Amino acid sequence: MRIAQLGTGEPELVIVGGIHGDEPCGVRAVEWLLEAEPEVARPVRLIVANERAIDAGVRYVDADLNRSFDYVSTKTAYEAGLADRLRREIQGKTVLSIHSTQSTHDPFAIVSGLSNGVEPIVSRLSVEAVVDAGPLEDGRIFDTSSTVIEVEAGYQGSETATANAKQLAEEFLVATGALPGDLSATERPLFEMGKAIQKPPAEDYEVFVNNFNRVDQGETFARADQQRLQADEEFWPVLLSAYGYRDIFGYRGRKQGSLSPA
Ligand SMILES: [Zn+2]
Repeated sequence: MRIAQLGTGEPELVIVGGIHGDEPCGVRAVEWLLEAEPEVARPVRLIVANERAIDAGVRYVDADLNRSFDYVSTKTAYEAGLADRLRREIQGKTVLSIHSTQSTHDPFAIVSGLSNGVEPIVSRLSVEAVVDAGPLEDGRIFDTSSTVIEVEAGYQGSETATANAKQLAEEFLVATGALPGDLSATERPLFEMGKAIQKPPAEDYEVFVNNFNRVDQGETFARADQQRLQADEEFWPVLLSAYGYRDIFGYRGRKQGSLSPA
């Protein structure tokens, strides 16, 4: 794990890239900040999380790091050690964790509840939507005692995702007062993440719907080999893709209204 810092003193702010090794945009954003070395009014910790997975170009080595922040995960996994270290580095801090996805080009944010000062930050980021994952207990970074905003910066491996990741990192630093500037809060559509949509066993998958666009009851939203999957009830797809996850297509999101500027 690579850990560096902008400014002096114990940071309250952290930017993390490379939790997943096959999502280079966050790593590029962290490297860009390290190179630019902007003068910060508040110190910022910069972390490149899973270097071994990044070097191998894979999501993880032994276990998904973003499912390893609980105390029941496989202790022998390489990522279990990383999770312990990362938990200590971000404890009690305000964290931007940068990801990318196979589901959409447009950046969006994922939070676990809107308290702890999340709202004024997230409403100043250039995201098309905010997804509230709720009180998940599945070993994500939200299971640490930190205030975490995850961003999905765009399509995995794309130049756009890297450009978005840099912009989001900079906006996070402006919104938290580490960098000078003025960002006005903007109203964003708010979704509840909802339950995972399991993939039936198949060789070949396809998804027919777009993230955050309502799927009507009875609408065919995906295919597993010849089996066409229809919605039991309406939902708003979150992180839906054919191959982004091994066992699930993504999440059965629900529209929650909008996040008003704070
Ligand atoms: Zn990721």
